[in-house]
Amino acid sequence: MIDNSSIESLKSSIDIVDVVGSFVELKKAGANYKANCPFHGEKTPSFVVSPSKQIYHCFGCGVGGDSIKFVMEMEKLSYPEAIEKLASMHNFSLTYTKGSSDYSDAKRVLEAIGQWYVKNLNQNTAAKQYLLDRGISQSSIERFEIGYVPSGQEVMQFLTSALLPLPKAAEAGIIAQSENGQGYYARLVERITFPIYSASASIVGFGGRTITNHPAKYINSPQTKLFNKSRLLYGYHLAKESIYKNKKIIICEGYLDVVMFHQAGFTEAVAGMGTALTTEHLPMLRKGDPKVILAYDGDKAGVSAALKAAQMLSTAGFDGGVVLFPDGQDPADLIAKGQSEKVATLLRDPKPLIPFVIEKICEGYDLTDPRAKEAAFTEVKQYLEGMSQIIKEAYIPLASTVLGVAPAMFGKQTNLAQRQERFSQRRDDVAQLGILKTLLEKPELIDTVLNVVDVSMFAQYAGLFSALLVGEKDHPQLVGLSVDDTFQVMNEDELKDVLRNFLIKHYDTKLKSVVSDTAMPFAKKSFIIRKIKTDIIPKLKRGELVTFDEKLL
Ligand code: ZN
Repeated sequence: MIDNSSIESLKSSIDIVDVVGSFVELKKAGANYKANCPFHGEKTPSFVVSPSKQIYHCFGCGVGGDSIKFVMEMEKLSYPEAIEKLASMHNFSLTYTKGSSDYSDAKRVLEAIGQWYVKNLNQNTAAKQYLLDRGISQSSIERFEIGYVPSGQEVMQFLTSALLPLPKAAEAGIIAQSENGQGYYARLVERITFPIYSASASIVGFGGRTITNHPAKYINSPQTKLFNKSRLLYGYHLAKESIYKNKKIIICEGYLDVVMFHQAGFTEAVAGMGTALTTEHLPMLRKGDPKVILAYDGDKAGVSAALKAAQMLSTAGFDGGVVLFPDGQDPADLIAKGQSEKVATLLRDPKPLIPFVIEKICEGYDLTDPRAKEAAFTEVKQYLEGMSQIIKEAYIPLASTVLGVAPAMFGKQTNLAQRQERFSQRRDDVAQLGILKTLLEKPELIDTVLNVVDVSMFAQYAGLFSALLVGEKDHPQLVGLSVDDTFQVMNEDELKDVLRNFLIKHYDTKLKSVVSDTAMPFAKKSFIIRKIKTDIIPKLKRGELVTFDEKLL
């Protein structure tokens, strides 16, 4: 078991903004951060992270909790697994009570086998020669810890002789259990190996490239607790410093490209794990606020990958551009042939993301055909709708020129009417929710409030009010309210003012409903009307609060 005190110190050393921010794209909103909820599909962010309370809450689907809960839900992990995951994300060493298994064993296996792979490379002339032929220098081989994995039998022998527990090696993705469950086999054999590190520079897996014309050119570690390929970037731990310093990150297509870019002095280069860039990469890319340069092959696959990535990045508000290497000349080859200067020239002049997207979308259509032109227009318009008004308007002239349509066709769609409607609907709720929010933070004011109102006066929020009174702290709506920036915590005077206005409105409405109530006995009716008209309302208007009277219900 994980030692409790070490869980506590882990908890106190992590920040929910970091934790959630490494899974989803967070945007600052007042004192909080906002995002599109990762737990339910949505287009407008209703997911809020509160750094002061160290909790998250979704106003859309009601989920909420602390960092650990978030990781549990996000990664479908048990409590101890989530703790281990958080610890590994933050390079935090947990202590374990005696006799329990240590998750960091998997990491130890990765480190040991990585060193062994490196040693093997020097003994395998074919593998070493392959790298040298590709123009990779000895110092790059060392810097990137490139290695070689021999036969499966040798892998198993190594693990046994190094006393590395096989279940841990399986957990680390090095070996897998054979189908009959009788034994293990090595997942990566006879390949050049590239260790893959997390952003915090701990080893999480390997990529392997065949040199024997195996149909799968590259194989990566399988998804493990440590290795999540959609959130890793190859070379990031080596590029990090330059990325921060030069405010630039170069994303290329393959591991060898990364190695060659670094070798040629472009030390901001990273690559995806053989998969497309996804929104899961955005939090990592955002770190250090760099310009993102996509350095892709100019072939069909490269262009389409660049288009998708550029579209995603620009919509997410990234600055940057695209460099396509012409005629299938891949950058690694250019550098190997001593043409680093050519690469540098291309990198200095990237096509900015938004114009790149607009032009590539249009190139995909025959604009002389009206129907195709209409489809291109719709696609470009949709793309621009995803941008802020200012950015959108800045690029309408370019889009209309490329498409050959009038700028006016892009229109000025404001959602002002919609927004106003939503606001007025909410305005009536502001008083009640503001009162509840204040009581959440300042329970000592509860008597002041209960003295003048009854729970039932809160109509649709009566349930919430009751939950608050009985101290149901984890009621999802109460948690939501506590992180909702729309409502301010009031001081006592402000609270009394709001209460007074709330009561004036309440008794006004009450008066009208009593007057028109034909079923109410005459004596009661006249009592209530007189009480409200001659006593309550005048007092409230004078600035006094009036004690709640049950007879008025
Ligand atoms: Zn949600």
